[in-house]
Amino acid sequence: MPSETSVVASVAKELFIGGKWTGATGGKTFEVRDPATGEVLCQVADASPADGVAALDAAVAAQKSWANHPPRERGEILRRAYEQLMARVDELALLMTLEMGKPLAEARGEIAYAAEFFRWFAEEAVRIDGGYATAPNGTGRFLVAKQPVGPALLITPWNFPMAMGTRKIGPAVAAGCTMVIKPAAQTPLSMLALAQILADAGLPEGVLNVLTTTNSGGVMEPLIRDGRARKLSFTGSTAVGRKLLEQCAEKVVNTSMELGGNAPFLVFEDADLDAAVDGAMQAKMRNIGEACTAANRFYVQRGVAEEFARRMTERMAAQPIGRGTEDGVIVGPLIDEAAVTKVSGLVDDAKQRGARVLTGGSVVEGPGNFYQPTVLADVPTDARMANEEIFGPVAPISVFDTEDEALELANDTEYGLVSYLYTSDVKRALRVAERLEAGMIGLNQGIVSNPAAPFGGVKQSGLGREGGTVGIEEFLETKYIAVAL
Ligand code: NAP
Repeated sequence: MPSETSVVASVAKELFIGGKWTGATGGKTFEVRDPATGEVLCQVADASPADGVAALDAAVAAQKSWANHPPRERGEILRRAYEQLMARVDELALLMTLEMGKPLAEARGEIAYAAEFFRWFAEEAVRIDGGYATAPNGTGRFLVAKQPVGPALLITPWNFPMAMGTRKIGPAVAAGCTMVIKPAAQTPLSMLALAQILADAGLPEGVLNVLTTTNSGGVMEPLIRDGRARKLSFTGSTAVGRKLLEQCAEKVVNTSMELGGNAPFLVFEDADLDAAVDGAMQAKMRNIGEACTAANRFYVQRGVAEEFARRMTERMAAQPIGRGTEDGVIVGPLIDEAAVTKVSGLVDDAKQRGARVLTGGSVVEGPGNFYQPTVLADVPTDARMANEEIFGPVAPISVFDTEDEALELANDTEYGLVSYLYTSDVKRALRVAERLEAGMIGLNQGIVSNPAAPFGGVKQSGLGREGGTVGIEEFLETKYIAVAL
């Protein structure tokens, strides 16, 4: 196993522009901290708006030749990068754990998940198809071709520092788009490591440009408003997504938006309760609860509610808390102090409105940003956590009586990313799955993410899909050529 110091030292800490590592204007840098200890891991280049323009210039300059690059070669670059990610999973996982906090086993899982997007899109690069059809009048012909949408701006969050990047870079590379990517300032190291892997895999200069900055709005807004980038693919909060959509409107920039969630988790009396509890633990505790797909509200039918809550309480109380690098740790730190304050505020609010704490319910004394795995019962519908993303290890349980009531509760949110449903009745399963307002349904399953499946939300959880056979479409335009014979 590599040492913590050596993995941090191995990463270039500069901007990656036009195939070269370069310092930010004026040599400005910012600190990256370990959320488990609060200690500074390193300094990273802090891009200015001028650095942003240089990155966009590089992406624009490379677009034409990259679009003409043979699809097979684009795919093979991704394939080589996939192999490198898998070969270096231990050191990359340690790097991720250090900057983000998730336990090593989960970080390894994320590297493998991230790599799978490259493998998947390596295969998709050579499957971009078109069409040939006879016009209804019988004389004309329609040719339909797919072309890269153009230079793309990619913005990713801190909670999955590698996978949210490969989920965008994979299809952009496969489709023939160049790009400027901006990871979250809290977790820039995984993306910097990934940029070097792609360069080593043969990605030509200027195809991928990486900006790390503490001034995300100041650097990215001019690039969005510039108009030369024809695509914005964003993963992050709904609040920021709304702002970016407004900015995109000015030059009618094509957008893909992977935004926030407020996932309901329904357990019916006819469910396999062992499976439901296992699924609930996965849906709640993956990534320390800091996932857009995290189960945010548990609705359990009255006949099994008490037993479900008892088992969840037992499981949550037994979760080992600690620094993600330590053996056996399941619950790492939250990303920062503000996250702990937010989770703690949501729990206090629920308690004031009558919720009962079955386990946890408190901040863990520092150092580090830890919160106890928590189960709450009798959480009323007007509690803030019923309407906001908790983004932490807190499971609020409420009881329902009928299927209609469960659906009403589940759909009573502005979000629509994912819903989970546990039942053994196949008719109920399909009936409820069809009526749940969500882009994805976990049917007797606590994890839905899969690079080969279309990931994305409805309502205010987003626009477009990532992964699956549709993922590459987000980076392609359709061109119709009308042919007179
Ligand atoms: P966030 O605050 O919206 O930030 C996301 C990204 O946007 C970061 O890189 C951030 O950079 C950047 N950003 C913030 N303000 C910006 C602005 N004005 N202009 C341009 N970029 C800006 O979200 P987060 O707290 O990092 O991530 C958690 C959120 O992401 C949750 O809501 C979660 O549900 C959502 N998420 C969704 C999915 C999905 O697939 N639907 C997946 C993962 C996460 P800085 O942080 O450096 O400012």
